[in-house]
Amino acid sequence: MRPQRCTTALSSSGLPGLRYALNPYLGCAHACAYCYAPATLRRPELTGTWGDEVYPRNNIIDVLARELKRREPGLVGIGTVTDPYQPAERTYRLTRGSVSLLASSRFPFQVHTKSDLVLRDLDLLVRAGGRASVGITVTTLDEDAALRIEPGASPPAKRAAVLRRCAAEGVATWVFLGPVIPGLNDSPASLRAVVDLAAGTGSHIMLDRLNLRRGVLDRLRPVMPSLRPDDLSPAWWQRVMTTVSVACKEAGLPWRSAF
Ligand code: SF4
Repeated sequence: MRPQRCTTALSSSGLPGLRYALNPYLGCAHACAYCYAPATLRRPELTGTWGDEVYPRNNIIDVLARELKRREPGLVGIGTVTDPYQPAERTYRLTRGSVSLLASSRFPFQVHTKSDLVLRDLDLLVRAGGRASVGITVTTLDEDAALRIEPGASPPAKRAAVLRRCAAEGVATWVFLGPVIPGLNDSPASLRAVVDLAAGTGSHIMLDRLNLRRGVLDRLRPVMPSLRPDDLSPAWWQRVMTTVSVACKEAGLPWRSAF
C-alpha cells in the first residue's frame, strides 16, 4: 500500500453520460484477469503491479470538498478506472468520505463496483435522495467461473445481494454485464441468468465485450488457455447482443452497449 497525494479529485470524463470521474484509488486488488485499466493510464509502473499494489489517494476528500464548491454540477462516476471499494477502503474510507460529500452536494453520482462493501455506505446513498445510483458488474452467476477471472472481487451471490438491498432501499441500480468473454459467459443461459437478476431488481443493463488491449490476452491465458482473438468476431458479438436484446425485451428491461 503506497499512499499518494492528488491535485484533482473530479477529472473530466470521456465516458458516455459522465461529466466527471472520481477515483479514490489507483491499482486494484480485485485482480480481474481481463482488466485493461492499466493500459488506459500513462503510468507504466502500474501495469506490472496491477492486482498487487493499491495506491490510496489519501487527500482526495479535502480536494473534492474544495472542488464541489466551485465546479458546475454534473454526473460524477465513482470508480471509472479502479474499483472504489477496494479491501483497503475498509481502512482508508476514502470512498465513504467522497460519497458523504457528494450526498450532501447538488451533484448526481454513480458508484460502479464488484464489491459488497458498498452496502456499508447504503445510508449515504439513501441520503442522496435519488441523486445516487449503484452499478454492479455481474459477468456471470457461476461462482467458479467468477473466481477464476475475478479472484479478488465479491462472489456473484454477494453482488446479487447488493442489487436486492439497494433496490429494497430505493437506490437506483444498474448491472454492468461484462466483459462477455467467448467460452466463459457468452452462452444464452449465462446471459439470460444475469438479465433475470437485473429484471428482478429493476436494474437496466449495460453490455460490454472483452477488450483485448495491451497485455490482456497474456493475463487471461492461464485461466482461458484456448481463447483466441478471432473468437471475438463481429458475428459472435452480434449473437451476444441479440440474445441480450431478446431477453431484455421479454423482461421489459432497457439495455445499451457500455461504450
Ligand atoms: S475490479 Fe475493475 S479495476 Fe479492478 S481489476 Fe477488476 S476490472 Fe480492473
